[in-house]
Amino acid sequence: MSLNHLIIPKLLQETELIIDGEIIGKDRMQVLRINAGKLASDNKINVFAHVLQASKPGPSVLILGGVHGNEINGIEIVRRSIEHNIYDKLKCGTAVIIPLLNVYGFINFSRDVPDGKDVNRSFPGHINGSLASRVARILTKKILPHVDIAIDFHTGGEARYNYPQIRYTKQDIIASKIASVTGVKYLLEQPLIAHSFRKAASDMKVPAIVYEGGESIRMDRLSIDKGLGVITNVLASLDMMDMDQNQEPQEQFIIHKSSWDRASVPGIFIWEKKSGDFVHKGDKLGEIKDPYGLRTIDVISSYTGHIIGHNNASVVSLGDALFHIGHEFTKIV
Ligand SMILES: [Zn+2]
Repeated sequence: MSLNHLIIPKLLQETELIIDGEIIGKDRMQVLRINAGKLASDNKINVFAHVLQASKPGPSVLILGGVHGNEINGIEIVRRSIEHNIYDKLKCGTAVIIPLLNVYGFINFSRDVPDGKDVNRSFPGHINGSLASRVARILTKKILPHVDIAIDFHTGGEARYNYPQIRYTKQDIIASKIASVTGVKYLLEQPLIAHSFRKAASDMKVPAIVYEGGESIRMDRLSIDKGLGVITNVLASLDMMDMDQNQEPQEQFIIHKSSWDRASVPGIFIWEKKSGDFVHKGDKLGEIKDPYGLRTIDVISSYTGHIIGHNNASVVSLGDALFHIGHEFTKIV
């Protein structure tokens, strides 16, 4: 499905694309190093932005990873898209590719910046703000004014596995349509969160979708493969490259409402059902055992629906979230 008609490209009007003071040429990948401050050791921190502008005008798409520094699947998807040279196929428009925004978090194996603040709760950012706010401002001031669409790649939390899923705002018609062409199984309608990237993009009239796949720190092949498919499918739907004809059709569900089933007892957690499975209310999802072989408690599903995320922790506390189940859903493909 072509979505090209939905976008009125900003860059048609621009005679020259200039990002962070650098003039962007045509038909060659340029790597910008955008200053993002310094470490306490006096080492400079740069955010790398790869920019490719085709000579034929068209939509401009931001492909972003590493807003959270430990969400390696998201970073790896964007990194691999560069390594696989998929942008060589660009027929028109512009791709702005940032594999790793939060360098501070990445080098500390952390979601956040060193002062503990979350970049994704620090938008739009401020020139004299905290570190997270300054990192956020790079996108709002230097990148978003030049793009028409944004795809933001994330990964679940520590030991929290997310089955590949797209999150978007239901009210944003373009984002909803972009979500539907990604080839991802689960599409989650989620309201905008204050000070998030998605909110900042929305305020600047840039439709944005968020991809979630896998868990932080740990690589996940399914999430990486599906994420790469998101990039090529979205660019193809905007007529910026040819559609991959060999793609397997993917059934898709819009998840309107989801809830967590939680641990009713603490102990060693062994899951039997996993993300991507469809379950019925009353189904056994797993077991929680004490460490002595004396007690086993079944984890029972409270819902009928799709497991869109699960907990990979081997030991859980009372009340820990175990299975994220989408229980109000519509099949669209
Ligand atoms: Zn994240």
